[in-house]
Amino acid sequence: MTIKRDYYEVLGVGKSASSAEIKKAYHTLALQYHPDRVAPEKKKESGEKFKEISEAYAVLSDANKKNQYDQFGHAGIDGRYSAEDIFRTTDFGSIFEDFGLGGVFGNLFGEGQTRKQRRYSRGVDLEYVLPITLEDSAGGCEKKISIYHTVMCPVCKGSGAEAHSKKKKCPQCHGRGQVGYNRGFFSFLQTCDKCGGKGEIIENPCQRCKGRGKIKESSNIFFKIPAGVDKGTSIRIKGKGEAGELGGTSGDLYVVIDLKKHSVFTRQGSDLYTEMFVSFPILALGGEIEVPTLDGGKVKMKIPAGTPGGKIFRLREKGMFSLHHRGLGDEYIKVKVRIPGKLTSRQKELLAEYASISFDNIGEGKENLFEKLFKKNR
Ligand SMILES: [Zn+2]
Ligand SMILES: [Zn+2]
Repeated sequence: MTIKRDYYEVLGVGKSASSAEIKKAYHTLALQYHPDRVAPEKKKESGEKFKEISEAYAVLSDANKKNQYDQFGHAGIDGRYSAEDIFRTTDFGSIFEDFGLGGVFGNLFGEGQTRKQRRYSRGVDLEYVLPITLEDSAGGCEKKISIYHTVMCPVCKGSGAEAHSKKKKCPQCHGRGQVGYNRGFFSFLQTCDKCGGKGEIIENPCQRCKGRGKIKESSNIFFKIPAGVDKGTSIRIKGKGEAGELGGTSGDLYVVIDLKKHSVFTRQGSDLYTEMFVSFPILALGGEIEVPTLDGGKVKMKIPAGTPGGKIFRLREKGMFSLHHRGLGDEYIKVKVRIPGKLTSRQKELLAEYASISFDNIGEGKENLFEKLFKKNR
């Protein structure tokens, strides 16, 4: 067993490298190790190196694979993608065109695989972004989504052939699905254009799927969302991606959670934040207010005498369920001073009287401030 090096280390870039930096790093290394550009005695060694950097680039240049790798390391990639799948979505073309060099991937990953694996390849994974409410996330919920994807043809069961129709070996590739030619140390393999890589030719293609073995259709998919999911949480639904080739396993569907904005609360991890206006007399004298909670209820909260505006109170365990800590977060309430827009004449009278016997009125405060400034600047 060989131990794989970290992909970022292989390309010599940092974990926060931009896609342009990753491409540039690969460009430079590929130019250095491309088998067409090294001395004959170094071909084997640089071929290995070339494969290593190309695999690192294939993963880090694909947003999904990169995300998977960043979260789970090599296990996240090797567990989900065959060697062929790793390279499938990568656009090496433009890079090698610049050098006037050919791609060398045919035999890099083709070798170890049997013909069967190649022909019956797994379907592609799909991603679906689902916006949900904070309430849905807090309590967990069940959802139904409708997706348009390919499924195995129900008539021919994925074979692509009409019932009782025979398949014959492709005369061009003799059933191998690929045709090869050699160039220096590397042999190149190309998908056979006559049979499309299947190695067989169907005499009477299935009428329903036109020989493709799969059809496009809408499916309703039901699934559970666990309590506590946050923006970006990805839920895997096995086998609901695109159908595989010729009856191969279907890919998976990844439902990625997006959170809708809430009218009262904002969320940070498992904690909730909100603001409430409280009247000056309650803040000054102390009292009790009612605070909303995410379950739609209200909780009484004590305000101590002399509470300044902007103070933040915490209600324990009134936040979200946390997927990581298996407990409840807290709710934080920031109190703000409410200044009434209109006052009755009686209220004005009382406030004016209050002001006349208070020592913390604005005039005095200002004087002090000016005095301080004056002293400091002398
Ligand atoms: Zn069919
Ligand atoms: Zn063929």
